[in-house]
Amino acid sequence: MFEFDRGIHVQGTSLWLDSKIGREFSFVSHAHSDHVARHQRILATPQTLRLLARHFQARETTSLPFGESVEIADGGTRVTLFPAGHILGSAQILVERDGKRLVYTGDFKMRSGCTTEPIEVRECDMLIMECTFGRPGYRFPPREETIDKIAAWIDSVHAIHGVPVLLAYATGKAQELAKALGDRGYLISAHPHVHSVCEDYTALGVRFENLERFVITNYRNRVVLFPPNKRHSGDLMALPKRRTAFVSGWAMGEAAPAQIHSDAAFPLSDHADFDELIEYVRQARPSIVYTTHGFDDFGKHLKAAGFRVKPLAEAKTPTGQLALFEEE
Ligand SMILES: [Zn+2]
Repeated sequence: MFEFDRGIHVQGTSLWLDSKIGREFSFVSHAHSDHVARHQRILATPQTLRLLARHFQARETTSLPFGESVEIADGGTRVTLFPAGHILGSAQILVERDGKRLVYTGDFKMRSGCTTEPIEVRECDMLIMECTFGRPGYRFPPREETIDKIAAWIDSVHAIHGVPVLLAYATGKAQELAKALGDRGYLISAHPHVHSVCEDYTALGVRFENLERFVITNYRNRVVLFPPNKRHSGDLMALPKRRTAFVSGWAMGEAAPAQIHSDAAFPLSDHADFDELIEYVRQARPSIVYTTHGFDDFGKHLKAAGFRVKPLAEAKTPTGQLALFEEE
């Protein structure tokens, strides 16, 4: 039903799933740049197309809202998009043909956020799953607990008349922070890139309180929100008594703040943690799981939980074709 060659190709159709190289027709699961290439035609949710539009224009787009199905032009194959809970508009895809069901998750998380659609899990025969945090060391604390800790850290920096600077990915994570902290009454001063993505989120129905675009002269009693790749920018360096905190799933562990050269680190993630990955597979009840991203040893944990599993990259026969439903 599919083959893997620097992307996942749905056999018998022209459709690829999150292909890393430009194709005639590809599903794009969400608006992170590592999931999109210069395709001629894109299948995505309306939210993802809106978020992509600032940076990228496909020649042709097929906008498919959550829960709606479409027969792809090649015939005999139906696809449906449903929420992945990763960032706003992020989708999983269900491919149905000859009574068989394939689900590709893209990036996902099980826990809810305040700017993303809640995830849905659908039962399937074959599951291709993103497993970024597939190690038992990655068990994230409850979201509200982490937001409480970030708020306490901000208060402690304000108490010494310093400027708290949160470093978070510009699309998705930054909006989660802007929304959660803005709703608690903190005045958020967002890097222009972060702010422009917030404007897209607003157009898509997410309301932000206490949000302004960063201006170098206005930093008192603000929370400055910048993407990690701008952490050495002159604007930040000019802020007196600045303290930085990196907000990411990679912030697990005592050594994290030193590794990422920040004063603090908080594990708020847009990805599933170890327990969420296992729980997802329990609910989807696939007969085989193909794993992508993450650590090599995650497959062992899934096998121990009673599932058949293969790394996607190794799931190739010498002809490049995947023989699905074969017995090992
Ligand atoms: Zn992503």
